[in-house]
Amino acid sequence: MASGVLSERIAARIKKSGPIPLDAYWREAMTAPDDGYYMRGQPIGASGDFTTAPEVSQIFGELIGLWLIEAWIQAGKPAPFTLMELGPGRGQLMADILRAARMAPEFLEAADIVLVEASDSLRVEASQRIGAISTTWHSSWEDAFREPSETPLFLIANEFFDALPIRQFQKSADGWQERLIGLTETGNFTFEAGPVADLPEDALTDDVAAAPNDVILEYAPERAALAAAIGQRLSSMDGAALLVDYGHASGRIGDSLQALKAGVAADPICDPGMADITSHVDFEQIKRATEVAGCRCWGPVDQGTFLLRLGAESRAAALSKNTSAEASAGIQRSLRRLVHPLEMGAIFKAAAILPAIYFAPAGFEE
Ligand code: SAH
Repeated sequence: MASGVLSERIAARIKKSGPIPLDAYWREAMTAPDDGYYMRGQPIGASGDFTTAPEVSQIFGELIGLWLIEAWIQAGKPAPFTLMELGPGRGQLMADILRAARMAPEFLEAADIVLVEASDSLRVEASQRIGAISTTWHSSWEDAFREPSETPLFLIANEFFDALPIRQFQKSADGWQERLIGLTETGNFTFEAGPVADLPEDALTDDVAAAPNDVILEYAPERAALAAAIGQRLSSMDGAALLVDYGHASGRIGDSLQALKAGVAADPICDPGMADITSHVDFEQIKRATEVAGCRCWGPVDQGTFLLRLGAESRAAALSKNTSAEASAGIQRSLRRLVHPLEMGAIFKAAAILPAIYFAPAGFEE
């Protein structure tokens, strides 16, 4: 039997009104105000449950900083503008972006920094890393996009979309059913099939409609809604967005739900709030949502290809100058981890969203 207050709360809800969709379970497990996963302790980094690209090497954030500056120049150096990061975590990426941007003081001066972070403890840690610069915080992306904005948007999100909840459906002889979270007789959480409340029309693309029985389909309404909000803001106010996440160029067939606890795979529905839950990002869904909003979505390209195109190797060489052989080997190891296809280089992908009038942004040349 699952333990803890969060787990009991979810179980009580299921007992009262029946099995709940996966996204409802996921949202509660990860972002419940007091005891959701992100609210407790320190999930990210060497001592946490998972390590992200900015934590591997400063090269990642510095190159992304240069990417943002280039996109800002391409847009005609608007001032002021909003520099937004979704899910900064411990703040390493933004700290590296801002350090790289010191070579473009006009960019730094024109930037109003907006950070979207659900976790109070991560917010404290990120503030310390980012330093004395003035920032605006929101605890949800909906808050950040609620008010119309007067300024162009330059946005970065690394491993944010994969953290937003998904729903899962399974095809049976009688059509699609939703995979709901229910309770076993002994009080454990379990998947069970239930009726589909409102499978959105755009969830059922042709490839999915033709899928064989028993297939699991993933659909993430919140990811589509966020992509649409970004697309609309960029269409009306100009700017650019860079998303880096792990996932597929297209296709939502198959079960990609996963949980990590101390770097090891865990059961995603065993002990809510105790493990990091994510799933693969379907870039096709993001592309569709942003293109409906009048933008063009470039990519996705593999993270390795993207970073190498931006000059990751020469940055590593520059960092290695005047360092010890040992430090230089460490820099090469981190570079390899970011770009090698068998490490983070292929499973992670980058996509860029820009108003449709622009040429290919850096790293997305076709
Ligand atoms: N971008 C960081 C952290 C990625 S982990 C890095 O690359 O290291 C995902 C981050 O998004 C965490 O900081 C988590 O607290 C935050 N997050 C997850 N879901 C969120 C939501 N719905 N609203 C706001 N922040 C969220």
